[in-house]
Amino acid sequence: TDARTDPDCLFCRIVAGELPADVVATSERSVAFRDIDPQAPVHVLVVPRDHHGDIAQLAAADPELLSDVVALADEVAGDLADGQFRLIFNSGPRAGQSVFHVHGHVIAGAELGWSPA
Ligand code: 5GP
Ligand code: ZN
Repeated sequence: TDARTDPDCLFCRIVAGELPADVVATSERSVAFRDIDPQAPVHVLVVPRDHHGDIAQLAAADPELLSDVVALADEVAGDLADGQFRLIFNSGPRAGQSVFHVHGHVIAGAELGWSPA
């Protein structure tokens, strides 16, 4: 199944404008909006407009689109912070993924510690 959008997907509905979000940047193929439960001074989610479940599926299906997501993350970090950022893709429920439309968490605006688990 290769549908570009899923009517039951939360982030497809945000991309479509059917649900509100605090959008901070867009590209032709991706959208960046603030996380509803921020964990850092800057916590923005970057999603491709097309529906893909996780980062590996996106990378396999459309590597240029993954590159677009990364470029938009960099733009957001430059606009909202000092250009330095962490980009996190949770993949699978045991890794903390709760929305199954791939999204990169842009974490920035603070001196970041490192505790991966
Ligand atoms: P995950 O846990 O899948 O890596 O990340 C999902 C993220 O989406 C969480 O950080 C959560 O706070 C955020 N989130 C969940 N629902 C919404 C929503 O309706 N709007 C926004 N802006 N963020 C959401
Ligand atoms: Zn989706």
